[in-house]
Amino acid sequence: MHEMGIVAEVLAAVTTAAESAGAVRVNRVRLTVGELTAVVPDSLQFAWEALAPGTPVEGAVLEVVETPARSRCVDCDLEFEHDRFDRRCPACGSYLCEVLAGNELRIDDVDVDLPDQAPVPSPHEATED
Ligand SMILES: [Zn+2]
Repeated sequence: MHEMGIVAEVLAAVTTAAESAGAVRVNRVRLTVGELTAVVPDSLQFAWEALAPGTPVEGAVLEVVETPARSRCVDCDLEFEHDRFDRRCPACGSYLCEVLAGNELRIDDVDVDLPDQAPVPSPHEATED
């Protein structure tokens, strides 16, 4: 499944980012997925639940934001939204269209807990003689 590879890469990237930020916990990861990528959000969730346990990202919520495909007609300059299968200009019928949006597949936002936001100090810091 295509989505397994994507989620594996996302987990690796988020783990690296969280570790370099010193995060103690990852709460939420938001992905933007363009319509033209053919990625199925339900399959992403399935892959997430299969692969996240055992990684530092375990327990984080995956939020998938789908963006519609948008193109500009080369012949009449119209910008329009369309689906994956029909990219023809609705005004003049031209197939000569430049894709403006819909190929995105990116991590938009990662919500983490940092140590200094922890409500309770760790036992090591609390111990005093
Ligand atoms: Zn056109």
